[in-house]
Amino acid sequence: MKGTSRGSQEQQVTSAGRPVTADLFLLHKHKGARNELAATVWLLDQGYEVFRNISQHGAVDIIATRNGEIVFIDVKARHPSSTGAVGARATEEQYERGVKFLYINAATGEISLGDPLPPFVTAPCDLCGNLFTQKRSEQRYCSRNCRERAKYHSRRSG
Ligand SMILES: [Zn+2]
Repeated sequence: MKGTSRGSQEQQVTSAGRPVTADLFLLHKHKGARNELAATVWLLDQGYEVFRNISQHGAVDIIATRNGEIVFIDVKARHPSSTGAVGARATEEQYERGVKFLYINAATGEISLGDPLPPFVTAPCDLCGNLFTQKRSEQRYCSRNCRERAKYHSRRSG
């Protein structure tokens, strides 16, 4: 048998009259839903029972259980060209609930499940009291200026 040919199939066109392949059309139109479906299939293959969030909003897309373990999962689309460990940042709600991120690359079919990066947290600067976004949990000052001034003060008083 020779390779399958799609040449005899009727060519689909967009509303603008341009020909499209059905796969490509669906890939763009229902990307999120397709990714979630692929994620559920992958989880089923891993032996999980899978429950989907019907609403389109919320911190969790999928709840999966296996051997008494309950996993909250947010599905994250990965850029087709990305490779290696890429982390997305959890929201505070996701982090508190221990949500895991399932990364899916629709182009390559690669799927991985892991912990998200911790959320950015807003904290008051130890010196000036202004609220700032902590990039690291040990960060105490809103700016380099405040950090330097705090160092100066501690040298004088210590
Ligand atoms: Zn400050």
